[in-house]
Amino acid sequence: MLLHADKKFEKFEDVTPKILKDANVKLLLCDLDNTLRLHSEKEPADELAKWISDCKKAGIMIVIISNNGRKKMMQRFCEPIDVPCVWWAKKPLSSKLTAAMDKYHFRPEQTVMLGDKWHTDVLAAKFAGVRAWKVEPRKAVI
Ligand SMILES: [Mg+2]
Repeated sequence: MLLHADKKFEKFEDVTPKILKDANVKLLLCDLDNTLRLHSEKEPADELAKWISDCKKAGIMIVIISNNGRKKMMQRFCEPIDVPCVWWAKKPLSSKLTAAMDKYHFRPEQTVMLGDKWHTDVLAAKFAGVRAWKVEPRKAVI
């Protein structure tokens, strides 16, 4: 069941701090493009900043793990929300997920990978031995 998501949500806002706490999630690894933002968004949207802040207040650490290789763009995006980011992660390889758990001292059972793609995010979670939570690819609100 390599491509089986442990939970599915429509969008990141539905992954509430309460849901995370109830599931004993201490480290939330997040994909960026089409999970936390539209690919075209240059700055964090208000709803993203609020969600990040609410999760942090609930004691949950968030690390962005993206296959996007544009380091400067990612640093600029992540700085105002004060979230560590890993670029060019090469998911479905799990090395960057495991490195983040090691760096911040969390165990796989305390960790979730949240993302929109089966063959990168979900698969990387499985290889890393963490839960895979899936969102629908983000769509522009018209
Ligand atoms: Mg994505």
